Formats: sequence, C-alpha cells, structure tokens
Amino acid sequence: MKVLKFGGTSVGSPERFENLWSIIQSQVTNKQVVVLSAVAGTTNALVNIANLYAQGQVPQARKAIQELKTTYCVFVATLFVTEKGIEKGKAIVNDHFTLLDELGNDLFTIVEERLVLAQGELLSTTLFHSYLQEKGIASVLIPALDFMRLNEEGEPDLNYLKQQLEILLARYLTGQLFITQGYICRNAFGEIDNLRRGGSDYTASLIGAALEVEEIQIWTDIDGFHNNDPRYVSNTKPISHLSFEEAAELAYFGAKILHPQSVFPAQKANIPVRLLDTMNKEALGTLISSQSNHADEIVAVAAKDAITAIRIHSSRMLLAYGFLRRVFEVFERYKTPIDMITTSEVAVSLTLDDRTYLNEIVSELNYFGEVEVDDNQSIICIVGDFKRNKNGYATIVAEAVKHMPIRMISYGGSEHNISLLLPSKYKVEALRSLHNRLF
Ligand code: ASP
Ligand code: MG
Repeated sequence: MKVLKFGGTSVGSPERFENLWSIIQSQVTNKQVVVLSAVAGTTNALVNIANLYAQGQVPQARKAIQELKTTYCVFVATLFVTEKGIEKGKAIVNDHFTLLDELGNDLFTIVEERLVLAQGELLSTTLFHSYLQEKGIASVLIPALDFMRLNEEGEPDLNYLKQQLEILLARYLTGQLFITQGYICRNAFGEIDNLRRGGSDYTASLIGAALEVEEIQIWTDIDGFHNNDPRYVSNTKPISHLSFEEAAELAYFGAKILHPQSVFPAQKANIPVRLLDTMNKEALGTLISSQSNHADEIVAVAAKDAITAIRIHSSRMLLAYGFLRRVFEVFERYKTPIDMITTSEVAVSLTLDDRTYLNEIVSELNYFGEVEVDDNQSIICIVGDFKRNKNGYATIVAEAVKHMPIRMISYGGSEHNISLLLPSKYKVEALRSLHNRLF
C-alpha cells in the first residue's frame, strides 16, 4: 500500500485532476490512499470568509462566498463532461456554499470558523471522487472526520487513527483506491478541527505510519527539496536524498515544500517519504529516509522569516542555576516555542516566530533583567553533516556572511544544522553568498 498526497496546485484545475488520475494509475501497487488538499487559494479564501463572519461583516462574507462559489461553478462546468456529472458537480458546489452562506444567520464562534475552513478539503475530495465515478473508475471516499482525531493535548491520536482506519479499510476489502481529506480532523470534543495550515502533508504521514505503508508520496509543484531557495537564488538543484533529520530541519527552516511536523510520524515508523512534482512526473524528486548519503557534506541552505529575537541580560544569571528554567517557563506558560538559543554568562538570546503573546512574555521577562526585542529577523539554516570531529565548517559559513551583521550563531545543537540569525534585509544576500561558497 502507498499513500499519495496532492497539494493545492496539484488539484488546482480540471486539467490537474486528469493529471492526478494519470499519476495514480501509473503506480504499480495494489492499494492506495490518496490524500487531497483544498484547491489552491481556497483555504486562504475560507480564512478570509471566516474572519469577516467573526467581525460581524456578514454581507462582505457572503460576497466573498459568492466569489469563491463562482470559481467552483466554472471548475465543475469544465471538470465534468456528462450531463449527469455536471448536475452532480453543481449539487456538490451548492451544498457546500449553502452551508457557508447559512453560517451567517447565527452566532459565529470558533466551532463555525473551523467548519468554514474544512470546506476546502471536503470539496476537493468529493469533486475528485465524483470525477472518477463519471469516468467509471472505482474508488472509495473515506471521511477524515471518521478517523483523524486529536487528543486532549491537541496532538493526533495515533491509536484511534490506526484502529479506525483499519475498520474502515476492512469494510472495503476489494477497494484499491481510497480518497480522503488532508488537514481536517476532529478534536477531543468531537468537533471539526484541523491540523493547522499546510497540514495535509501531516495527514499523509500520519496515515502512512498508521497503515505501515511502503511509501508516502507528497506531490507538489516543485521537483523536491532544493539545496537553496529557488525564489531568491538561481541555479539551485533538487536534492535526491535526505535523511529524516535533514528533511525535518529544512522543512522547519523555511523550505515551504513540506509541513515540518509531517516528517516525524514517517520517521518513527521508518517509512520513506518521496517528494514529487505533479507537473514534472519523470523528475526523481527527493527521497527522505533513514539513510543519509551526505557524509561530510553541506546539503542545503534555507531561511525562515518573521523571526523575533529576544535578549535577556541579567547579572542574576551569573553563576546561578535554575535561571534558564525560569526563563523557559515564561515561554511555556504562553505556549510559545523557542527556536534558536545562544547564551553567555550574563545574557541569553532566543528567537520565536509566534508573536501572539510577545507583550506578555516580555513583561514577565522584565522581572529577570533588561530585555531587548529585535523583529524582522531571519534564520538562515545550513543543513549538512557536521560531525563533532570535523573541522572547518564554521569558517566556510562565517566567511560567506562576513559582510553582514550576524545577530546570533548556533552550532553544535545537532550534527545536522548550523543556524544564523540576521536582519531580514540581508537574507537574500546571505542565501546567495552561501550558495556561491558552498555549492
Ligand atoms: N488546505 C490547507 C492549507 O491551505 C492544508 C494544506 O493545503 O495542506 O493550509
Ligand atoms: Mg502544502
């Protein structure tokens, strides 16, 4: 069995549906679970609709709903060819958009908001399923809301997922092709929820791990992880092979191609993940597995923007124990993850990308000493094989960025990563300069 996940652009138009079917068809495997994202742009449009509703701007929300509906009407009119198919397509679109429209009649809470956000994946999967039906191809639509559930901590409930999926699949013993929604799930209260933006990759990885499939394929619109960001640097190349650790670092630090959390379920179950390009099906893409073939090499550079750096300067830190714990507890109370850390004997600098509770955090940190905040920073992450007994890597990296002001450097945290923090205005230059030196 394999899991194949297709992202928003891969389901972005009726022609892409055709292409998607040809990819599914070409795989020589007996069973496949196909995970679909919402059609590109849909989730953003739904976020906007939910925001308008939440602000009580019902007419504006309904206008946005109407606009989105129009694009779907055009979509189904080209997707289906038979009269019956077109009727069915229209009925599907009507159902979902009537629901969206009616949500404006009542109180709009977080529960309704998540219901709005779920419509994208519900639409894409139902449309794809009907499209296959029209072509006379047998497939089974299995609702993610029947098996993907979060526990009380908000984490996917793996036992439940495994149990439910096995029950569902056993019901269709002869079924070969299963279609399901990425991103959406239920929470511990049984309400509709989601795995956060970009979460369809996570869905695919969770399903793959639960069913112990032979491979998880993530089909996107680029031919794999590149060794640098192709939006800013020319001559980047796809990386043919990454270890789970390397992929996790790259996914987290900016390489938008894969949802960072999605590496871990596959890694735990030791299932290879292949990143592939729907528009360039022959390209090899990137294979992520437990092996790394990058001994002594620098593999890739990636960047993450909108980082905030905080420095806490405190003489109380000097020779004290328990100081860092108390600092970290502040972040824990506000459920804010810390990314990079550097320390000196009297100061600690750390970074975060979630600024939701920044003011609260800073006002609590003020208790420890002087606090400085720098926004608009970027983390540049250099991924490679940086074994303890190897020398020279820091010099190569430092040399490449010597003409830029570096706010923090982190080396030795793992054997796969060197991170730099600098003001975002230097990011592109840093990526290019590193590229020239390293590759
Ligand atoms: N449709 C969702 C999003 O845009 C999930 C995904 O595409 O992975 O965030
Ligand atoms: Mg994505």
